[in-house]
Amino acid sequence: MGASLEDVRAANLSLVLRHILVQPGTISRAAIATQAGITRATVSRLADELVSAGLVHELAPSSETGRGRPGIPLGPRPGMAIGLGLEINISYISACAIDLTGEVLSLKTIHGDFAGTKPDAVMADVAELGGRVLAAAQAKSPVDNPLFVGSGLALPGLVSSDALMLAPNLGWRDLPMASLLGPLTPLDPVVVANEADLAAFAVANPRPGVPNGPASFIYVSGEVGIGAGIIINHNPLSGAHGWSGEIGHICVDPAGPTCSCGASGCLEAYLGLRALASNAGMPEGSTADEIVEAAHRGSLRAQAAIADGGAALGRALAAVVNTVDIPEIILGGIVASIGDDLLPAVRDELRARVLQSAWSNPEVRIAGNPANLAVIGAAHRTLERLVVDPIIWTARPD
Ligand SMILES: [Zn+2]
Repeated sequence: MGASLEDVRAANLSLVLRHILVQPGTISRAAIATQAGITRATVSRLADELVSAGLVHELAPSSETGRGRPGIPLGPRPGMAIGLGLEINISYISACAIDLTGEVLSLKTIHGDFAGTKPDAVMADVAELGGRVLAAAQAKSPVDNPLFVGSGLALPGLVSSDALMLAPNLGWRDLPMASLLGPLTPLDPVVVANEADLAAFAVANPRPGVPNGPASFIYVSGEVGIGAGIIINHNPLSGAHGWSGEIGHICVDPAGPTCSCGASGCLEAYLGLRALASNAGMPEGSTADEIVEAAHRGSLRAQAAIADGGAALGRALAAVVNTVDIPEIILGGIVASIGDDLLPAVRDELRARVLQSAWSNPEVRIAGNPANLAVIGAAHRTLERLVVDPIIWTARPD
């Protein structure tokens, strides 16, 4: 059975939209036809469809195109299609509305202590926050009737399609997705995933529909918990259940302290924010920046806590690199905040323990824009659904 004509049209519409998103404001119908290998007539018809749906607009032709009729550049229409990202973490909840150009139209974070909370109450707070952020984005949009494509939720734990299995630092366990998401119904939750996986998605797709981030990397996310999102050849390495990347629970010392998961000597028990503060002799609730400041002011305990955290991270990452052969590591979250101080210990451990290091020494760097990556990734994932299948959105009655 071949693909139906409708399937071909949907795939080509997605391809045309993606070319426009990758080269916004510069690409013409003729250039798309050349790059995508589709006839000029077909591209014109599909681009017209995207324009009449309001997803794409035509810009003024450049006056410097030389001889001949200049092509009309196309770009995503600002403020037209809006995706909402939502995030629950241990010390904050966050919401972020992004349009198809990648502009953050509204972003709000509420700080608090969400450990040991009741899921219903937190989900109601997230729904309220998300509603406010969406309303602010719709008010800011230059479009009268923007298209809302749904919301994506980032959670700090093991997520499957029908349940949140475990979020150890929240104290949440075995929550059926249908009831967990109940309060979000008005926000049309269409994506639910682990926060590190969504942050990695934002690194791999720096703008909605534009997968031009690094091809293969390990993204390390950190707050009270430590996690990772792994991308290989532009695709997430999700695992059999979608639960891969739980590097916070790699054992770096069996004789080490007890972790929130019940095991001993996990990476998280050295590098998680609470563990770092406790090892630094600082009060619970200290931020990563405060711990770094204490180390820089000369606190030997803070310096030792960071060095131990870096060594633990290097040991855990060496195990991952030896297993999956991805020598590019990007640090985000609190791990980025303390990254400069962690890096020497991380690099020492990687050099000593990664078998391939003599030929391909793992490169560790701090995410370029580490703030809010998970909630941004959640919004980009909801918008990705539109880019993959724009046809249902172009058919919208208006
Ligand atoms: Zn653990």
